[in-house]
Formats: sequence, C-alpha cells, structure tokens
Amino acid sequence: MKILLINPPIYDFAAYDFWMKPLGLLYLSSILKEKGYEVSLIDATYRQDSFYTYVKSDRFGRGKFNAEEVKKPGVLKDIPRRYRRYGLPRDVIKKRLKDFTPEVVMVTCAMTYWYPGVVEIKEIVDSLDIEPLLLLGGIYPTLLSEHAKLLGFDRVHKISDNRISELDVEIPGDFNLYPPPDYSHYEKLEYVVIATSLGCPFSCPYCASPNLYGGKKEKEVGQVVEEIGFLYKKGIRRFALYDDALLIPEERFLALCYGIRKSGFSPDFFTPNGLHCRFLTKSVTKAMQEVGFREPRISLETTDPKLQKRLNLKTTYEEFVQAVDNLTRVGYRKNHIYAYLLAGLPLQSYRSVMKSILDVGKVGVKVSLGEFSPIPGTPMEQSLSDPLLTNNSVYYHYVGEAKEMECAKKLTKWVNDGVDLGI
Ligand code: SF4
Repeated sequence: MKILLINPPIYDFAAYDFWMKPLGLLYLSSILKEKGYEVSLIDATYRQDSFYTYVKSDRFGRGKFNAEEVKKPGVLKDIPRRYRRYGLPRDVIKKRLKDFTPEVVMVTCAMTYWYPGVVEIKEIVDSLDIEPLLLLGGIYPTLLSEHAKLLGFDRVHKISDNRISELDVEIPGDFNLYPPPDYSHYEKLEYVVIATSLGCPFSCPYCASPNLYGGKKEKEVGQVVEEIGFLYKKGIRRFALYDDALLIPEERFLALCYGIRKSGFSPDFFTPNGLHCRFLTKSVTKAMQEVGFREPRISLETTDPKLQKRLNLKTTYEEFVQAVDNLTRVGYRKNHIYAYLLAGLPLQSYRSVMKSILDVGKVGVKVSLGEFSPIPGTPMEQSLSDPLLTNNSVYYHYVGEAKEMECAKKLTKWVNDGVDLGI
C-alpha cells in the first residue's frame, strides 16, 4: 500500500526555518516502513527541495522560506501586516501528489493557526482524480480536534492515539520503542532535528506540552547516542534537539554528553526550545561546551518575581544570572547567549516586559522576545471565534496592544545591538 505523508505549507504573517522539520511525521514514516508500507513524503517547508535553484542559509543552516503574499482571511483583515503562504508552490505539491497516486494521505499540522495549509492539501486531493484515505494528525488536531474534524478528513488522530486502526499500526506508548526519525526522504540536509525525550515535568499555564504528552517520556541515552551516530555517519553535522526539558534530570543529560564524547562525534547541537535556568549548573554547562552546544537559549519568560510566582514559573532572576555566569565561565560568549522572554501574557504589564528586557541586557546577553499566544487547551486559552486569532503575531493586535508590543520589540533590538557592541 502506498502512503503519502504531507507537511503542508504555512500560512502566517511571519515564518522562518529555525531548525524546522516535521519530526512526528518522520517517526511515523519509520513506523510505517517497519510495517512494510511504501512511504513517500512531501515536506512543503523543505528549503533544500530540488524545486528551488537557490537556497541561502545562515552558518547554522537556518534561513528564510520561499513565500508569496496571499489574501488575508476575513477574521484577520484588520491586522496591519502582510499575510503570506510559505513553502512549495501549490502546483508542485499537486503534481507530486498525482504522480505518487497514494492510497492513503496523512497530513500533519504543527500550529493550531496553521490549519489553512491543511485546508489547501484537502482541496488539492479533492481536485485530483484519486480517492485516497485522508488522515489528519499532529499538534493542531490534538489541541483542537473538534475544529479539525470539520475539515472533511476521513479520520482525525491525536498525538496520544496509540493506534492507527485504518492501517493496523500501533504507535508505541514507550518512547524507547520509537524507531529513529526517517530522514531518507531528504536529498540534502543542512541539519536534522531529533528528540531525546518528549514532554516536560512542569506545567506552565501558557504551554501546550502537558496536554500534548502528559508528562516526560525519555529515550535511553545509549539509544539516543546510536541515533546521533547513525545520522553523523551520513554526514549530518548539526542537530537541533526538540526536547522540552533536555537538562532534567541532570545525571541523564551528563550521561548523554558523556556518551556522545566517548563515541568521538563532534557535531553542533542547538536547543531551540530553551533550557531551564536552574539546571544550567557548572557541570552541565561544562558538558555542553565540551560536546558542542552552540548559542545556548535560556527559558526565562520574565524577571518580574510577582509574575513568576503567579504563573508558577520554574525559575528566578537570580538563577538566570547564575546560569549565565556558569555558561560564560566555560567559554560561551555573552553575545552568543539568548534569554527567552514573553510579552503580552495576561496579568503582565508592558512596564514589566520592558523591565525584563533591560534586566537581561544588564547581564550582557541577548533577548529573544516571544509574543504570548493563548494556546487552546491551556489554562490561558481564550474564547476566540477562530483559531487564526491565537497566532502570536495576531493576538496582541486583537487585544489592542500593538503599540506596546512594537515598543517592546524596538527595545529588544536596541538591547541586542548594545550586547553586540559590548556596551
Ligand atoms: S517548562 Fe517549558 S516546556 Fe515545560 S511546561 Fe513550562 S514552558 Fe512548557
């Protein structure tokens, strides 16, 4: 049986290939192949696709997606920004779909407000003279299954579903039993993404992780080292780790670093999801430096102690300062360290946001400012008429805080420029 996996194009006001790969779909590809199915992949956000003649990436393999401006959906018409479609042209997707003539099409969707990409794939399938079984899975249908069911797919799967009955396939409940992600679909890779664990032991009120994975599930360190080695031997030199809680527990992380060092691999590692301040101890930062973790990204969210307490956050400003100290002592340059801050949280004033940005600047490291998004299913979800309004590039406009957010972004740029200049 021929199964086609599709990572759809992105519809958004901004999108960037910040180590983005459809990891869930790549695990699924391995599981389906083990079962004997013929599997192909269309990853509409693959920047090195043979369709493109020119690809520009930064020194860590990240870069801009190919994009075209498209008409805004009615609910976004008052947002004063350009709405774009990022990814492979529709005709290219259509031709590949037609050529493969799949009996099953499985579509993923990573963000709830990216569902227009799913709608596009459904339209393409409907326009062809084929009638595959159409399945939808991923984060969007897990968090918003009732909405996803309205898109006309034959079946909608949540991440927690342990069985795809239509294909007689079991999805292991134990992360140790997951095969390595299947990167064989990609001709050229500037990086890969992997996960040594799924989920997180914390439950911050703005985060989807508890709803997606229900706690932390780990892979045996030896198995992770083998996966890294397998990809390393194929020439991969950049690994982005999608873990939500990579450093917890510390002994496991140290064992992982030890295993990598012992194997003699020397790739670069990246942590786009951020690292917990409290766990950036002296031993951890030393191991990170030795193994090749680049541009450490620290989860801080705010330096406001009252807000930290109210939101039950997992760190304090003092722990952040200590974490930065531990990083710089082992050789990380301050202008290569980023602190993630959040702006626009309920109960958060912009005075508090500005102060947090300046507090980070005072330590001499850079700010990576994230706009709050009320993710469905979290304690901070909002009752909104359309999931498109949960987009972090939209929500602050919707609640009338665009001016304040622009000021926060300007201050962030000013602070980061200062850090680069060593001021
Ligand atoms: S610590 Fe990070 S990953 Fe864990 S629940 Fe909080 S925000 Fe989510």
